[in-house]
Formats: sequence, C-alpha cells, structure tokens
Amino acid sequence: MSESGGTISTFEFFAKFPTERTALEYFESRRWPDGVHCPYCGSERTSRQRKYQYHQCKDCRKKFTVRTGELGPKNWTTC
Ligand SMILES: [Zn+2]
Repeated sequence: MSESGGTISTFEFFAKFPTERTALEYFESRRWPDGVHCPYCGSERTSRQRKYQYHQCKDCRKKFTVRTGELGPKNWTTC
C-alpha cells in the first residue's frame, strides 16, 4: 500500500535483472559511475570478491557491498 511513483514492480524488476549479479552491476553503475569507491575511507583501491557479493577495500580492508551505507529503503525493488 506504500507504492510511490516511479517504482517498478517486482515482476518487472526480475524481468529486467534476471540475476542478482545483473542487478548488482546496475546498482554499482548507479552508485559509482566513475568506479567503485570504499564507503568507509573513500579509497578507489578495492577488489571484487569471487562470489561477487561484496568488495574489499585494499586500504582499510573493510568489506562492503553496493548497499553498504546507502540511505533509503533496503528493498532491492525500489530505486
Ligand atoms: Zn576503505
């Protein structure tokens, strides 16, 4: 009941992003259009981990995902 304008339905979302990896790449390109940055120290020296679920900063060594520190709804389906 809390639909707001501009969101797409879950069905449309998964039709557009059939895999979580595709969705991650989409969110990453939105959040870091110039490349992945560490949300903790701002370093650009990050490495993507094998499972693709998260990144690790090579400077502060913290792990993070595209959603770490992001404000707003946690739900993937809301943009
Ligand atoms: Zn860092």
